[in-house]
Amino acid sequence: MFSQFALHERLLKAVDELKFVEPTPVQAAAIPLALQGRDLRVTAQTGSGKTAAFVLPMLNRLVDLKQKRVEIRALVLLPTRELAQQTLKEVERFAQFTFIKAGLITGGEDFKEQAAMLRKVPDVLIGTPGRLLEQLNAGNLHLEHVQVIVLDEADRMLDMGFSEDVERLCNECPNREQTMLFSATTGGAGLRDMIGKVLKEPEHLMLNSVSQLAEGTRQQIITADHNQHKEQIVQWLLQNETYEKAIIFTNTRVMADRIYGHLVAKDYKAFVLHGDKDQKDRKLAIERLKQGGAKILVATDVAARGLDVDGLDLVINFDMPRSGDEYVHRIGRTGRAGNEGLAVSLICHGDWNLMSSIERYLKQSFERRVIKEVKGTYTGPKKVKASGKAAGVKKKKTDKKGDKKVAAKRKPTAKPKPNAPLASADGLAPLKRRKPAPAAE
Ligand code: AMP
Repeated sequence: MFSQFALHERLLKAVDELKFVEPTPVQAAAIPLALQGRDLRVTAQTGSGKTAAFVLPMLNRLVDLKQKRVEIRALVLLPTRELAQQTLKEVERFAQFTFIKAGLITGGEDFKEQAAMLRKVPDVLIGTPGRLLEQLNAGNLHLEHVQVIVLDEADRMLDMGFSEDVERLCNECPNREQTMLFSATTGGAGLRDMIGKVLKEPEHLMLNSVSQLAEGTRQQIITADHNQHKEQIVQWLLQNETYEKAIIFTNTRVMADRIYGHLVAKDYKAFVLHGDKDQKDRKLAIERLKQGGAKILVATDVAARGLDVDGLDLVINFDMPRSGDEYVHRIGRTGRAGNEGLAVSLICHGDWNLMSSIERYLKQSFERRVIKEVKGTYTGPKKVKASGKAAGVKKKKTDKKGDKKVAAKRKPTAKPKPNAPLASADGLAPLKRRKPAPAAE
């Protein structure tokens, strides 16, 4: 129950109105500490309810402010415009019974209009680092009275090259009393460095439990011979699976555009989202997906980051994500709030080792699925096929559509050590240390 938290009654009323009954694990862990004013470092993925975990304590701090609104009191930094917009909506929903006002500053929107909004001084400012800095440099933004900063999706902000901007913005808030940093992954040296610089004796809450992943979402792999074959499988899945909305992930913009083109040619209601798209296209894609005008989104990781779209119940990894954390992030979009989801990864010869590394990282085996209508010749590494038992691959059952599902019985023989490299024996770089190719977005 949310009433267990020492939240202002106006906020509890909003929580009630939004029909939030039980706090999610990240909310249960973070809200009490945040209400005490502690600095927090939280590892939790999108879909975990992390937004409310920082928005509610942040608003609680501001709800009783008696003074006239003259200064920005809270700053929330996010990596993408869509995330910033979603967070603004969430803040407005929770603040609906208070006098707290929030403002949004992102790229792709009118600079002067933003400056005018800043002159009215919102209590909470939400934005992306690049444009915020531009407004700061133009003398339109004054942050010295900020009491609380939230860095959401901090790992992604670093991946996108915002680390200096984020640090600069934090330094512009010398009087802040609280900093909360959220990331989907545990991050690398860059994130540790930022944590050391901006957080004071933070409490670290790890809620990125990969084991939660499988709860609502079935995870399957289908082997494929080449990209064209993958496209055939995608078509089959889109025609034969039951889904409300689907998302197809690629690692490159070029591939996203290509798949999108093929889908549109076949009269699918689809949209594509990647870093080359301008703000108008991106807004339109998300709106159409949310309102049901489009059923299928083809996207790269950065573009899809933080999307919160109801009814997204089919995820297809056309390309395997480059890390286990990214996999968790992609799949985390389905099966939300107790709904069923299906995640299918298409695996060519070149994807196999990465897929196995991700299985080891997640300590689980994906269901092997064969669709007889689009069956190819590649079925996995030769040595596995030859010995059969080596991978413990066994035919299991045939579903009503006639496509066989083959479940892997393989269990890791030894428990992986916590910090053991995740590389497979073929000399692949350890999975955790793999960096996404910068050009991919
Ligand atoms: P987030 O991880 O913050 O993006 O939240 C994912 C979705 O879950 C959003 O649509 C939230 O409105 C919703 N949500 C968050 N917390 C709860 C809760 N305790 N009960 C019901 N829905 C929630």
